[in-house]
Amino acid sequence: MTAIDDLLHRHAVGVDHGSPEIPTPVPSLHVAVVTCMDARIKVFDVFGLTHGEAHILRNAGGVATDDIVRSLAISQRKLGTREVVIMQHTQCGLSLITEDGFKDELERDTGLRPTWSIEAFREVKDSVKQSMERVRRSPFVPYTDHVRGFVYDVRTAALTEVL
Ligand SMILES: [Zn+2]
Repeated sequence: MTAIDDLLHRHAVGVDHGSPEIPTPVPSLHVAVVTCMDARIKVFDVFGLTHGEAHILRNAGGVATDDIVRSLAISQRKLGTREVVIMQHTQCGLSLITEDGFKDELERDTGLRPTWSIEAFREVKDSVKQSMERVRRSPFVPYTDHVRGFVYDVRTAALTEVL
């Protein structure tokens, strides 16, 4: 049995009955949260979120890549969000690799060097700042007065704002 088989079984016996009580795709808090795919981050618990309140955008690192900017443009322009949280975290896998090291590995194994950035970082705070700047300076994201960045400690749940 694969993990996906397991998930399908969990769905069949689970408690998800859809969201008939939430008739709109507009998040009620009008906020988007960008964070890492790290399996230890319980995004809903971190901010006490409930279903229907926020857009959650995740990728490796919680980095504001072009694709995250794409989602934020849709989130703000078509779905009413006005604030952006960027939350990266301690012990992130992206702090354990280097840009060139991982690209070299990919090229060695596949014969192709990716055109995209790995977005590896040494200092998580610097990465958060970079992502905040990308969102603030994007011409596609109209509401940038409330873009705030944080580092989440995966061991203690402490949340530290990056100013
Ligand atoms: Zn991470």
